[in-house]
Amino acid sequence: MSGPPPSLPPPPPPDARWALFLDVDGCLLDFAATPDGVSVPPALRDTLTACADALGGALALVSGRTLETLDALFAPLVLPAGGLHGLERRHGDTSAVGPRRPPALAAVSRAADALAECHPGSIVEDKGATLALHWRSAAAGAEDALQAFALEALRQLPGYRMQHGKHVVELRPGGDGHGGAHADKGSAIAAFLDEPPFSGRVPVFAGDDLTDEHGFAVVNARGGISILVGERPGSAARHGLRDPSDVRAWLAQLPGDIA
Ligand SMILES: [Mg+2]
Repeated sequence: MSGPPPSLPPPPPPDARWALFLDVDGCLLDFAATPDGVSVPPALRDTLTACADALGGALALVSGRTLETLDALFAPLVLPAGGLHGLERRHGDTSAVGPRRPPALAAVSRAADALAECHPGSIVEDKGATLALHWRSAAAGAEDALQAFALEALRQLPGYRMQHGKHVVELRPGGDGHGGAHADKGSAIAAFLDEPPFSGRVPVFAGDDLTDEHGFAVVNARGGISILVGERPGSAARHGLRDPSDVRAWLAQLPGDIA
């Protein structure tokens, strides 16, 4: 499914000194009716490997999914990645520490499942430390019901907050899940940029969702390249690509354009 041409200019020609950060759903992968329904096009693993090689390994996924889910999706490829909107981060093949799951989340998750059954098409995605409520494929009324539920559930989850995305609201720790400072996609990108092979490079971040705006802000502040996939009025991104197939075509060209 192709949308209109993006209103933002295309990204500039690629450079071997880029550090490339990529959102996954709605950026690398087309959306599906359910989070589990997405598929990774066969050529994409090779494309990502070639891009990582061309950039000295400075390529990372930055997603709302867990690292475990990202690894399952892209297997056998294991890339540096930030998961759960920056709550999890793994550099290369080193182990990662995820946030803690509060005991109260189990009951909230069960109650959410019960509510979702009353709103066919809505989906509860239990990610361990966070809980995402999706209404992409649900009938009218599901959005209001799920948002109201999430707001009420916050009372049982001290330190948690609501994070809004496209057809989804997520209950997540307000901080980094370890009693530390706030974590988001921007803080994940900033942390990667403090470490080799990302440090000293020009950050480039492509994403489609509201939660990607944190990443765009960090990249812009560091003189990098922010790329919005699709359209969103008021986005801080300065470049645009039309849709995930446009992103994949751009990435497929990238190693050759650098060489
Ligand atoms: Mg996305």
